[in-house]
Order: sequence, then structure tokens, then C-alpha cells
Amino acid sequence: MLVVMKNVASAEEIEAVVGVIQEMGYDARPIPGGQRTAVGIIGNDGGIDAGRLQGLEGVLEVIPVTHPYKQVSREWQEEDTVVSLANGTSFGGSDIAVIAGPCAVESEPAILDIAHQLKEMGATVLRGGAFKPRTSPYSFQGLGLEGLKFLAKAREQTGLAIVAEALDPEGADLVAEYADIVQIGARNMQNYPLLRRAGRTGKPVLLKRGMSATIEEFLLAAEYVLAEGNPNVILCERGVRSFDTHTRNVLDLAAIPVVQSLSHLPMIADPSHGTGIRSMVTAMGRAAVAAGADGLIVEVHGDPPRALSDGAQSLYPDQFASLMVEIKVIAKAIARDVTAPLS
Ligand code: PEP
Ligand code: MN
Repeated sequence: MLVVMKNVASAEEIEAVVGVIQEMGYDARPIPGGQRTAVGIIGNDGGIDAGRLQGLEGVLEVIPVTHPYKQVSREWQEEDTVVSLANGTSFGGSDIAVIAGPCAVESEPAILDIAHQLKEMGATVLRGGAFKPRTSPYSFQGLGLEGLKFLAKAREQTGLAIVAEALDPEGADLVAEYADIVQIGARNMQNYPLLRRAGRTGKPVLLKRGMSATIEEFLLAAEYVLAEGNPNVILCERGVRSFDTHTRNVLDLAAIPVVQSLSHLPMIADPSHGTGIRSMVTAMGRAAVAAGADGLIVEVHGDPPRALSDGAQSLYPDQFASLMVEIKVIAKAIARDVTAPLS
């Protein structure tokens, strides 16, 4: 961290900054320049409170020179993290893993039916919310525990791994009892008690980027899970808010290579929430794979017009089948492959 002093800062003010840095337990090195002095902090372990220095007399700005996150960074671990599931699916290796399913689990027959279809089409992980974070409290909130049980039954019948969202810390324990992956949604990306509890479940965590989160905030959220001793985090770009109204969100495809350069964690993309519009999901799914995503999470519903949530962005099963065929070709072009279908 570098503390840049104002050009009018006095020698006493520089001395005071040096004193505070030393009080914090670090070495301070004043670097006199032509116009102003900067004070470098040596031995910074990432835990410095910049606010304390920012408020001192004569300080112009405090500039971080290292990332505030540690364990998620490539500096901490150079090689890619591979998150492996019991059914053989892995995220972060050379294969591209595909998660598919309805936004929400709506009934036992519906989830079992779509699970069988998705397995045939080559998905290896089934999604379906049992606890839904709906924008309106009057919208369908999910089937809760019953929904988790239906998902577990779908896994039993198909071999698909299952992922479901947890909305609160107690929910994380419950979801972890049933699911192979605990999802933390965009609205909860900075829910720190939830992140910690999900981390402590020991189950892989699928962390979706908040709709207004910077990449740094996203990686710091993942850091909470790793800080609990859980290295199995799958990051997911799901679109960010924009000024344009033609899509529900703007799928930030550049975030894929950016995150992969900064972090060793696998990074997947959600073209469903990323666009909000069925006719655009396939194009963005293809693009995400081309951009280097380690996987996709796609909403697919047996009868989208009757879906209880996110029907407008849910693919029909045959559209999903085409997407699977297309991304195999794209994967090949970049020396990757799509996870082999379950037998
Ligand atoms: C979802 O996956 O259904 C969901 C609610 O996603 P997000 O948190 O990205 O909005
Ligand atoms: Mn949804």
C-alpha cells in the first residue's frame, strides 16, 4: 500500500503518517518525489485499514499495490483449482461442465421428467431452487425442504449431481445435507454470515456475482468461503445491471478472462439470468464457452410458459439439446471438451 501525500504536506505530517504505520506494526518508507512524497508500507499482509491512513492530515490518497484478497488469487496458488463432484463432473479442468434445470423445483413429476431429459442431452448437474430469492415477497418462494427431497430423488434416478440455492446460514446447512453444491445467489453475494456458513459445510459452493458487484468485491466474497477452509468455490458471472433495458442484465463476458487471470478458481457463466430472454440465451451460452468459461448454468423448463419463475428466460428442452451440440464444437476449437454424458 502506498500513501501519497499532498504536495503541500509538511514534514511533520509525513512523520505522523510514518508513526501511524509503525503503530500498526509495519515498516514505513518515505519516497520523496519532485512534487510530493509517497510513503510505502512494507510487510503489508493485506489486513491494513486504509481508512485510518486516509483521514490523516496531509494525505492525498491511499493506493493499494497488492490485491486485498489472498487465497483466491493466482499469486497464492498458480495452478487452477479443480472442483470435483462424486458423479465425475469437474469444474476448472479441461472439460466444460454444464448445469441445467428449471429456475425452481415446482413438483416431483416435473423435476424428475426434466432431469431425465437433461441427462439424455448431456448435462451432468441438475439445478433447481428450493428456496427462491424472489424480488417480490408475493411471488412463488419455492417448495423448501420438499423441493430438496425431490432434487435428491432426481439424483438417485439419473446420477446427475444437484445444486440448489441457500438464502440464509441455517438454509446453507440444510441445502448441504441434500445437494452436491450449495449455490449463493447474486442477491446474497455479500451476505457474509451466509458465505461463512456455506464455507463451513465443506460442500462445493457456487457463488454468483452480485448484480452490481465489482470483480474485486466478487473475489473478496469468495475469499470468505476459502477463509473457512473450503477451497471448492465455483464462481459464476450472471450479468450485471446496466442502463439499457433490452436485456434483464448485461452478461459481462470479459469478466471470464479477467477473473481467470486474477484467480485460480473455476469460472462459469449463466446466460439465462445474464440476458433474461430465451431467444438470447443460446447465443450468450455459446459466447461464454468461446470466452473460456469452465462451465455453463442454464435454465431449462419442460413447459416455460407455465413456469412459476423465470419462464421467459428458460429454454425449451430441444433448444438446450441444440446448445449442447454447438458448445461441443466451440470447445473443440479451443482445445477443450464438454464433460462426457453420464451413462
Ligand atoms: C437463480 O439461479 O435462479 C438465481 C436466482 O440466480 P441469481 O442469483 O443469479 O439471480
Ligand atoms: Mn432463475
